[in-house]
Amino acid sequence: KVRTRYAPSPTGKMHVGNLRSALYEFLIAKHAGGEFMLRIEDTDQERYVEGATEIIYRTLETAGLKHDEGPDKDGGYGPYVQSERMKTGIYLKYAKELIEKGEAYYCFCDKERLESIKTEVVEGKEITMYDKHCLSLSKEEIEANLSAGKPYVIRQNIPNEGTTTFHDELYGDITVENAELDDMILIKSDGYPTYNFANVVDDHTMNITHVVRGNEYLSSAPKYQRLYDAFGWESPVYIHLPLITDENHKKLSKRSGHASFEDLLEQGFLPEAIVNYIALLGWSPEDNREIFTLDELIRDFDYHRISKSPAVFDIVKLKWMNGEYLKAMDFDAFYEAAEPYLKKAITKDLDLRRIAEMVKTRIEIFPDIAEHVDFFEEVPEYDISMYAHKKMKTSPESSLEVLKDILPRLEAQEDYSNDALYAMLCEYVKEKEYKNGYVMWPIRTAVSGKQMTPGGATELMEVLGKEESISRIKAAIE
Ligand code: GLU
Repeated sequence: KVRTRYAPSPTGKMHVGNLRSALYEFLIAKHAGGEFMLRIEDTDQERYVEGATEIIYRTLETAGLKHDEGPDKDGGYGPYVQSERMKTGIYLKYAKELIEKGEAYYCFCDKERLESIKTEVVEGKEITMYDKHCLSLSKEEIEANLSAGKPYVIRQNIPNEGTTTFHDELYGDITVENAELDDMILIKSDGYPTYNFANVVDDHTMNITHVVRGNEYLSSAPKYQRLYDAFGWESPVYIHLPLITDENHKKLSKRSGHASFEDLLEQGFLPEAIVNYIALLGWSPEDNREIFTLDELIRDFDYHRISKSPAVFDIVKLKWMNGEYLKAMDFDAFYEAAEPYLKKAITKDLDLRRIAEMVKTRIEIFPDIAEHVDFFEEVPEYDISMYAHKKMKTSPESSLEVLKDILPRLEAQEDYSNDALYAMLCEYVKEKEYKNGYVMWPIRTAVSGKQMTPGGATELMEVLGKEESISRIKAAIE
């Protein structure tokens, strides 16, 4: 049975890259009729951020990624929080098993000693390749240190010769020289396991079959493989995802302003559109289709089609996609979500539902509403050159003339419904033998002060009402 897990560390907002891992894990499980589990990886107490666990729950819920098992839903594999798992003694037990097998050892080196062997410079950073100093301690020395209460860590013992090979679904077989692998810490001096150790113990004991994570973990994967081999466990299927970059091909970071799910929600994107878009950051279906509901993703998601090349987070594309979701949205739901934005832009007592209908197909995200409807509140200062329109064959002069001519009819008109106004204006157009736009354009422009409006002349007047429409036209003529 396929079992996947999303294993976030509670360190803050949910980055788009993490959400993608969660989504792919969810899709792999659901596509195969399997189970999707949530595990909280909180062993790094220094990085723990208050409230971050709530963000994780909220994000999964809002995104529609319902977990079958987790801290709040026991499925028989608990505890589902690593700090609680630690209390059961599971990590220490397995670490000791490795010590028995000669695959791990106690290390009592203090900070100073570790500082003194810091030599390797990788990408400008000094790192410690541990020199196996404590591997040569005798049994008696170890016992003495332990009973004296000397602080210790437990390290993985990786031989200096030979190679280690692991398999990734996207990258194939990867082989590395063992000499390049550090004897990483499995159990820290505070008794907590490192992520590096806990992920292996947990994925195995929780029966996880597929692991999806960012490819920043690719370089550690051989060490994990050695742990699986040492225990005699079968490793899960690994899928290391490509990096997500911003438009400048730099790693997507906080600075780009849309690196987390929360940022995107705050900017007015719909959860469904975000999820749809993120699904395509590294994966594509056979037919290059782009709009998918979550159920359709579950049906079509084949992880063999995940790409290795970096995915560019294109906010313009996401906006487009969000616009498609808004167009397809049920009107009542749309109105409910749009209302706060409309109320913020318009304080006058106007028919907001009618205005919402006008903008529904024109905006990409809710905050776009403001610029489309601002003129309902107040006509902006404008330049009469905007009356000139090639296609409508209008000029400022012709427009002002039409407006003056039509004003008495608009004043006499009682019924300001769109249909009635339209019929009256068509009558006028016919009588004068004008083209439709020759009359409609000046009216639309005069009442809105804009060339681009979410509705035509009569629609705008219907919303504005007789008094306001006439006062705007009068102001335009003067
Ligand atoms: N806790 C790790 C993280 O948040 C999980 C990595 C993994 O999925 O194995 O990056």
